Amino acid sequence: MKLCRFNDSRIGVIQGDSVIDLTHALGETDTRSPQAMLRLIADFPALHDRIERAAASGERLSFDDCTLLAPVPTPTKLVAAPLNYDRHRREMGLPDTSIEDLGMFLKAPSSIIGPGDIVQLPFPDRRTDHECELALVIGKEASRVSRKDAMDYIFGYTCLIDVTVRGKEDRSTRKSFDTFTPIGPYIVTKDEVPDPNNLDMRLWVNDELRQDANTNDLIFDVQRLIEFTSNIMTLYPGDIIATGTPEGVGPIRHGDTVTIEIERLGRMSVSVRLRD
Ligand code: MN
Repeated sequence: MKLCRFNDSRIGVIQGDSVIDLTHALGETDTRSPQAMLRLIADFPALHDRIERAAASGERLSFDDCTLLAPVPTPTKLVAAPLNYDRHRREMGLPDTSIEDLGMFLKAPSSIIGPGDIVQLPFPDRRTDHECELALVIGKEASRVSRKDAMDYIFGYTCLIDVTVRGKEDRSTRKSFDTFTPIGPYIVTKDEVPDPNNLDMRLWVNDELRQDANTNDLIFDVQRLIEFTSNIMTLYPGDIIATGTPEGVGPIRHGDTVTIEIERLGRMSVSVRLRD
């Protein structure tokens, strides 16, 4: 199932070239609530049949007529992995540094934007990079989860660009500026992804292919990331784990368009502007 937020914060399911509005079927009366997707994720096992029925009978809108929004705009946490691909560690000059050494870090959830939105660069004169990442969307409360149970706690997956100012500040500052976390274009539920540790991923700046990798090169794979992170902090439905970037990170500039695509998860673009 491909679940999206669209237009005035409605919730939809995507089937082929159509978007079916689920907002009323889900019992959402405040269709503008950004929390509606969090409720859907938390209650998904109970709502699943109702969603399937609504998807079969609901009004079909043309995908091209819908404006997609960030699928999870208000997670309680946005947790991210540093240096989780070997060739990226090497390009950063840190070949021996691992998540074991650094731990995970937090990005501000307020940095989230969606497809078609604008990344706003805070500095005209500091290098600011794109990072192409698979994002995990947590499905249920997860505390001290073991590797063998980890997949039970995933709701689905989406594409994520971890925009990053290079420099000496803590990662949480350099990566948390407003607009620094584009996610989308929708959530693909885990049943549609046979193995999240084997997904091709690509990122372009304008027409230039900058990153071209596969999640089978993750150092901490998806299960290990959930085990490791949930042993630090309790994860809640809708929380997002950014799994780390492969090699090929590079600067983005005013006027650029950045496009991310992950196998089975779709493709989205955002534009880049210097902040006023
Ligand atoms: Mn990153």
